[in-house]
Amino acid sequence: MKYKGYFIDLDGTIYAGKKRIPAAKRFVERLQSQNIPFMFVTNNSTKLPRDVVADLRDNHDIHVNESNVYTSGMATADYIKEQTEPDEHPSVYIVGEMGLYQVLLQAGLEISNDHPDYVVVGLDSDLTYEKIVEAVLNIRDGSTFIGTNPDTNIPKERGMLPGAGSVVKFVEHATQIEPIMIGKPKARIIESALNKIGLEKKDVVMVGDNYNTDILAGINAGIDTLLVYSGLSTREEVAKEKIKPTHEIDSLDEWQE
Ligand SMILES: [Mg+2]
Repeated sequence: MKYKGYFIDLDGTIYAGKKRIPAAKRFVERLQSQNIPFMFVTNNSTKLPRDVVADLRDNHDIHVNESNVYTSGMATADYIKEQTEPDEHPSVYIVGEMGLYQVLLQAGLEISNDHPDYVVVGLDSDLTYEKIVEAVLNIRDGSTFIGTNPDTNIPKERGMLPGAGSVVKFVEHATQIEPIMIGKPKARIIESALNKIGLEKKDVVMVGDNYNTDILAGINAGIDTLLVYSGLSTREEVAKEKIKPTHEIDSLDEWQE
């Protein structure tokens, strides 16, 4: 099974929190030496590609380009662009951080809290009640509700902190409206990434440590999947799943491109 392109998760797959995964560095270097295109497909909307590149370089000695990074924020911008005529400039109200603001501004969206076309909700470490109020009132008034990603939690040293999905649920509960969700395990982020990498579904594999996000995203999008047991999911858990990953390995060192 030779693939022409790779979509790769970050935390649990390429690094383990602050800890390095040496097999992952070797895997990335093998892809680079064979000129196989790859993109890190991450649900994290708070970071810009340059932040991800810098973190990989400074903390993990992994050297990639910004074009190797695809965040749920970028997928959100691409999704809105797909819904928009070339001469339209939709407006958006954002609950999120600079990473999300920047990608949506770069996509030509105007920021507004007065009847915006879209309300985009992601992780926001400066979340306030007032931001939620603006989001809720605008969605109730007809703005299209988009969630960057459904992650309930983010694993950190302190424990399982609330993730973007928890913020989205807050707004969903108060509006009784279900959002359009972009990130893994939804197929949308994979479909947008396929557009970006310019390959067909049969030629790409989604690599990740989490059955419920990475692998399901690949399954939902109809691409092959590779589960590496270096992070969250265990063989015992995955054995109970009806739909198995296409490939399962314990370390990326086992994988031959
Ligand atoms: Mg992961």
